[in-house]
This record gives sequence, C-alpha cells and structure tokens, in this order.
Amino acid sequence: MSSTLFTRIRPRTAVATLATGGIALCIFTRLMITDAHAASHPTPPKVFGGGPSFIALPLESAEQVNHDTKRLRFKLPTPDSVSGLPLTSSLLTVSWPKGSWTPVARPYTPISTSDEPGHIDFLVKKYPNGKQSTHLHALQPGDTLRFAVPLKGPQWKPSPSSSPEHITLVAGGAGITPVYQLLQGILADKGDLTTTMTLVYGVNTEKDTLLRDEFRALEKQHPGRFRAVYTVTAPEQDGQQEIRKGRVTKELLDELVPASQRGRAYVCGPPSMEASLTGGRGASDGGILQQLGYRKVDIFRF
Ligand SMILES: Cc1cc2nc3c(=O)[nH]c(=O)nc-3n(C[C@H](O)[C@H](O)[C@H](O)COP(=O)(O)OP(=O)(O)OC[C@H]3O[C@@H](n4cnc5c(N)ncnc54)[C@H](O)[C@@H]3O)c2cc1C
Repeated sequence: MSSTLFTRIRPRTAVATLATGGIALCIFTRLMITDAHAASHPTPPKVFGGGPSFIALPLESAEQVNHDTKRLRFKLPTPDSVSGLPLTSSLLTVSWPKGSWTPVARPYTPISTSDEPGHIDFLVKKYPNGKQSTHLHALQPGDTLRFAVPLKGPQWKPSPSSSPEHITLVAGGAGITPVYQLLQGILADKGDLTTTMTLVYGVNTEKDTLLRDEFRALEKQHPGRFRAVYTVTAPEQDGQQEIRKGRVTKELLDELVPASQRGRAYVCGPPSMEASLTGGRGASDGGILQQLGYRKVDIFRF
C-alpha cells in the first residue's frame, strides 16, 4: 500500500479549514441562490460525481432506527439520478439554525450505494445539544437540506497481489456509516471476488447497534467473504453467542483476526477508540493495531 495514501487531506482537517478560513461564507452565498430544481442540468445522472454540487435536496422520509438515530432519505433531482460518489466519501451538509448568524457545516456519510437511483440515505445520530444533528432530526418530509461538497475518505483499491487480502474493519457507535459504505462497495465490486473482511463493531449498549439486519443479509449473500462481530460495553443480557462483552481490545482483535490475515485496517469511531487502536498524537507505541503487527501504512481512519 502506497504511503501517499496517508498524505491525503483528512475530512476533519478539510472541515476545520473551511470553518476557520471563512470559505463557508462563500459557499453559503452560492447555496442561497441554487437549489436542486434550478440547477443548470436538471437531471444529472451523477449528482455528486463531479466535485462541489451546492444542491438542496428534499427529505423523502425519516425513520427512527433506534433511540437516538434516524435513517433519513433525501430525494435526488430525478428518479434516475444517482449520487455517483466514489468510495469512500462523505457529504458536507450546511444549514442555518434559527437565530444564528453563522451557518453550521457537518459531514455525513451516505449508506445507500452510489448507484442507487432516485434517493440518497443517511444514518444520523442525534446529540442532545448538537447543532446539525438536532436540525436534521427535526426535518419533516418535504423540508430541504443543503449539500455542499463531497469529502474524500481513505482510498480503496483491491490489492494487485494474486493472493486474496483480508481487511479488518473496526467501528464504534455511529462511526459504522463509512465502514458500511466501504464494505458494501467491496462486496459489490464484480472485479473483486476474493477480498474478505472481518468487522468488529463496538457499541455502548445493544440498543446502540445499527445496521444489524443489513450485516446479517450481507453475510448470507456473500458466504465466506464477510463476518460481523459485535461487542457491547454494557450488555443488557448475557449469553448471546454472537455478541461479545466489553470494548474493542487487543485480545479481541488478536482472537478474531489471525496474524496471517492482518492486512489493511479501517477504523472509525469515537476519538478515544481511534486513539487506542491507531495510536494517539504523541503516543510512542503506535496503538493496538501496530502492536498486533498491522503496518502503519495499512491503517486508515475516516
Ligand atoms: C467524515 C465524517 C463522517 C461522518 N458521518 C456521520 C454519519 O454518517 N452519521 C452521523 O450521525 N455522524 C456522522 N459524523 C459526525 C457528524 O458530522 C457530526 O459531527 C455530529 O452529528 C455532531 O454534530 P452536531 O452539529 O449535531 O453537534 P455539535 O454542535 O458539533 O456538538 C454539540 C455537542 O454534541 C456532542 N458531540 C458532538 N459530536 C460528538 C461525538 N462524535 N461524540 C460524542 N459527543 C459528540 C458534544 O458534547 C458537543 O459538545 C461524521 C463525521 C465525520 C468527520
């Protein structure tokens, strides 16, 4: 894996730059005069395939999927439009909360595939005082949300090696969305029938688990290619075979992924989880993944 992958601009950095550099103001000026139906190409096949879009999309439906998370479906401009986003991408959403002089810009990761026609779906976790997540949870069908620019996550290309590669995916809480996007993309790639994956998904309580039915369906559709293991910090009931107890630890990863299968690893979760796995700033030991033999250049954060 080329080390240049590590020199990409991380989404968080890009967002911070936007916020501090005042570029958001310029974006917003454009957002105010453009909407989905007034775009110069009213029926683009790929809505987000060619860089910044500055488009307003109406909410089609909202479904509460657990105690704090909604699945939001936005309508694309025409029934045959697709998002066209490359793997792995998020979209910067922009809103202007009531009574505020400053816009709010936050990235969210689509969980629908880039070629799904007519709509784009997101899982949005609500934070009690969160500016954007509270706004998104209050949207009603027909209300619009502004989407600004796609933000690139880590690159993905199947390994050129003739021997099959095993990928380790580790997610925490709502950090499952980019991992799910990558997983779906890999399994949908007709040119790659050999990459296999282990997903280790850590949540605080069982009611925080997202996309469980979807993972079960993918395991059935792609036998031998993908396995999901859940680990719950504070389980409500013990004894469920498929659910482990505790956080994502070195011992758990060591048990689940044999040393010979430690290739690329993709991690997305709360800052403390990412720091313990990938090594926090200034950490001397490089984190759990490097201790387990994963190479630094093969460890990616979204
Ligand atoms: C690349 C990328 C992709 C993302 N994709 C998704 C996605 O698909 N779905 C999704 O729900 N979120 C996603 N996020 C997180 C999302 O962008 C927002 O950061 C989140 O919704 C909080 O924004 P807010 O405006 O509601 O909260 P803010 O107003 O920014 O924060 C208010 C308070 O909420 C709490 N809070 C905010 N964020 C967190 C956090 N991560 N952990 C703990 N407490 C927090 C803090 O107490 C904070 O003080 C993604 C983030 C990145 C960087």
